[in-house]
Amino acid sequence: MCGIVGYVGRQHLAMDVLVDGLRRLEYRGYDSAGVAIFDDGEIVVRRAMGKLGNLEGILRDSPMSGRIGLGHTRWATHGKPSERNAHPHRAGSVAIVHNGIIENYRALRQSLEAAGRTMESETDTELIAHLIDIEVEAGKSLLEAVRSACSRLVGSYAFGAICKTQPDHMVAAKNGGSPIILGLGEKQSFLASDIPAILPYTRQMLFLHDGEFAVLGEDGVQVIDEEGRPVDREPRPIQWDPVSAEKGGYDRFMQKEIFEQPRAIMDTIGTRVSEATGEIDLSEIDLSPAAVSRVERLCLVACGTAYYSCMVGKYLYEQIAGIPVEVDLASEFRYRKPILDARVLVIPVSQSGETADTLAALREARAAGSRVISICNVRDATIARESHDVLYTQAGPEIGVASTKAFTTCWR
Ligand code: GLU
Repeated sequence: MCGIVGYVGRQHLAMDVLVDGLRRLEYRGYDSAGVAIFDDGEIVVRRAMGKLGNLEGILRDSPMSGRIGLGHTRWATHGKPSERNAHPHRAGSVAIVHNGIIENYRALRQSLEAAGRTMESETDTELIAHLIDIEVEAGKSLLEAVRSACSRLVGSYAFGAICKTQPDHMVAAKNGGSPIILGLGEKQSFLASDIPAILPYTRQMLFLHDGEFAVLGEDGVQVIDEEGRPVDREPRPIQWDPVSAEKGGYDRFMQKEIFEQPRAIMDTIGTRVSEATGEIDLSEIDLSPAAVSRVERLCLVACGTAYYSCMVGKYLYEQIAGIPVEVDLASEFRYRKPILDARVLVIPVSQSGETADTLAALREARAAGSRVISICNVRDATIARESHDVLYTQAGPEIGVASTKAFTTCWR
């Protein structure tokens, strides 16, 4: 997991938006941090090993005045944590930040080196920068160069790219589990791995889907599909309160989130349980009593903390509903070849709604003919969109790495 953030606009200095966004994304990686910003017609890259504070120190000593830039906080997969392996990575006129894992890394590296390219780092990310740069050198626009480069990638990626010769925009690409959220503002656009990173600047956001690209400029965002056709997708207002993504007088986000649990639980179940009669109202999902009576088994599937909430859920479902429940780690689900059909109700649980293994499990379940009702905390996230139905929790943004309110709202 890494965190990426991007800014194009005139209202702010890119440096300020990027550092602010990275602070809110720091839970996604502590190995190194870096920014690439257009400054006086050049792309200037500043990177530092370790926590974000080290990069902040460098930027304080030598600030940058550009209005377009990308930022990254790294959790290393290819190449040890070091300044050399820190993002952004550049090749020729291109700089990129990346969240994901390129699986054909070895073959690509060999073929790029055979073509005369020299790598500065051990990362898979740098290869993407070279693939894009080759296409830019051949005369393609940044968007077309990114599309061609992506056709050679196997694996998961969410990345943002800027190009020295095309300085008025940036391009984003997404495939596999890594999320990209696009934000729209007045004469400015944003990209980020997670909503809280850009919530102080805009609530108008949209999600990039797998296989899609986006061009971000001062005048807005254009989403492009795999075939290069424009996609008409309206942004939706995010209801989360920007203040809820701040520490609000507490020393730590986690401390604040522990104390937010009663409110989060009330927000989650309050609208679904009648105080007067105790009746539960789940009319938001399309599950008739007849359909329920056909369910012979529940299959709860998740990763990390959400997996633990499923283990609590198993006790509750079996005791209250009297239906056998299986709990699966999403990363193992596909490989154990689970027995699934229309009699099994599958419940993927994911706070972000973007967990790659949980999404893969969901797709497996749908392909096998099971009904899927997911539990997510983020509206319209990929897992929510791809499920037959979704029950949203109302935990709001959770920044703390050790989950608290997102955990308790899941199994309530
Ligand atoms: N594979 C990239 C690296 O190691 C990105 C890591 C990630 O997204 O977790 O730098």
